[in-house]
Amino acid sequence: MKQLVIISGKGGTGKTSLAACFAALEKERGPTPVLVDCDVDAANLHLLLGGEETSSRPFFGPELAVIDRGKVTDQEKCETSCRFGAISGLEVDPFLCVGCGVCRLVCGEGAVSMEKREAGTIYERDTPCGKLFHAELDPGRSGFGGLITALRARGEEEALKHPGSLLLIDGSPGIGCPVIASLTGCDLVLVVTEPGKGAFHDFERIYQLLRFFGMKTRVVINRADLDPGLLRETERYCFSHDLEIAGRIPFNDLFRQATLAGKPAVELGDERLNRILGEIYRRVREEF
Ligand code: SF4
Repeated sequence: MKQLVIISGKGGTGKTSLAACFAALEKERGPTPVLVDCDVDAANLHLLLGGEETSSRPFFGPELAVIDRGKVTDQEKCETSCRFGAISGLEVDPFLCVGCGVCRLVCGEGAVSMEKREAGTIYERDTPCGKLFHAELDPGRSGFGGLITALRARGEEEALKHPGSLLLIDGSPGIGCPVIASLTGCDLVLVVTEPGKGAFHDFERIYQLLRFFGMKTRVVINRADLDPGLLRETERYCFSHDLEIAGRIPFNDLFRQATLAGKPAVELGDERLNRILGEIYRRVREEF
């Protein structure tokens, strides 16, 4: 099983649109891929791929401290034990408690216990382009990394049932814990960027992260004709870091139209876009 993750330093670069197109092209090539949407903050690959939700299951994040007030003999000691300020008036604030368990260790009276708490939901969906796993983290909950790891584990389990199938991952945006959890163990990373000041800054940051982890990386420049100066700057950066550019996609309205239509852009039948995307897909696929 090979794993391809598509990421971007920032949101809105067309990462999910490209992931949906890759899913459709991979399905056409065969065997059908297994898909994972690791953007648990704002999952939307399923909006582009459609299909039917087939199951859902709760995800349990970091535990929550629960205090038995009747057993507490030293309220101050209890409250000051928490460096996150989560305990006040012997009540635990569920939004501040990170489940570290220190208050339980500090308490000599056995007044604190740790309880499981639901932090989100994992969904499984049958789409025309393959089985998709996606998730939603509940508002205010922590546990991104754990949720993404759990999602990927479901995807890997499914992909192992179908020899030769590609695990195609729509990664999380940014450079923090969620994106690291999206990248771990992948065979190839495809970074989507665009010629913009903010995008270039975020691209440099994500590349530093990928270099730190020694990940094999290819780049796609979306809306490549928006700013020739910034395009050259992005290309120069790639050349000077030996980063191969898998392709450049000119600005077009088709990704937006595809989102409205709820389908991958390659299914809109635009010859020029399909040729460009087909070429990018072929170059990336050759890496496997
Ligand atoms: S488990 Fe950790 S974060 Fe939660 S209340 Fe106890 S000390 Fe604070």
